[in-house]
Amino acid sequence: MSAPNEAPRAALVLGNWKMNGDAASAEALLAGLLAGARDIAGAAGVCPPYPYLGLAAARLAGSGIGWGAQDVSAFDDGAYTGEVSARMLADMGCTWALVGHSERRTLFGDTDAEVARKAARALAAGLVPVVCVGETLADREAGSTELVLARQIDAVCPVLREAGERCVLAYEPVWAIGTGLTASPAQAQAAHAFIRGRLAAGGVVAAPRLQVLYGGSVKPSNAVELFGQPDVDGGLIGGASLVAADFLAICRAAAGRA
Ligand code: PEP
Repeated sequence: MSAPNEAPRAALVLGNWKMNGDAASAEALLAGLLAGARDIAGAAGVCPPYPYLGLAAARLAGSGIGWGAQDVSAFDDGAYTGEVSARMLADMGCTWALVGHSERRTLFGDTDAEVARKAARALAAGLVPVVCVGETLADREAGSTELVLARQIDAVCPVLREAGERCVLAYEPVWAIGTGLTASPAQAQAAHAFIRGRLAAGGVVAAPRLQVLYGGSVKPSNAVELFGQPDVDGGLIGGASLVAADFLAICRAAAGRA
């Protein structure tokens, strides 16, 4: 939903497959999504592991379902063994690149500054960065949620100021990712409104028009209520994106939210 007098923000649901599956299961999942593509075209995408991006590109081309990467290098081409550049992802037809997912931040040490560099590389290559932010349970219990979100947002504002509407934010409370715990609709709305306001305060003039997705144990059973919040524009979906019927149901919930 959008503020009065503004064009409604389009819904978007992205599936983050993480490091799951193999070629056969990726093929089956893509086939399942294609079977429901008509309902969700233009409002959904998947982020498979790098080795299956080519498969996603081949199967999803022309379907209206997009594809993206789960991460991107903070470097341009060169001697960076194991890295994948934004330009390579653009070559694979990716629309989006996730940056700053909490698993990257906590398990692989991605810093706020590195997340900003990754977002900049993505934008320079014509990709849409999906900047993930969120607090831990300890942060929330200490009353530091807004402090943490502000720090994470402020680090990317200089990059996102130049992006116009070519960026997406994802609020993913770390305590809700893969745990079965979900932020209440009110908690999600409060965080999304804060994120949008902080972006605006940081000079990101497109903030009112940017899609801010919610991620953290979204399921078909809770999607409608979450996506019914005025500042929740869709979802970033982990576990449920591995089951075609569940992902399609979540996408339909987002599409009907306005
Ligand atoms: C995620 O990892 O981005 C995520 C939201 O995971 P899940 O839906 O499994 O909580």
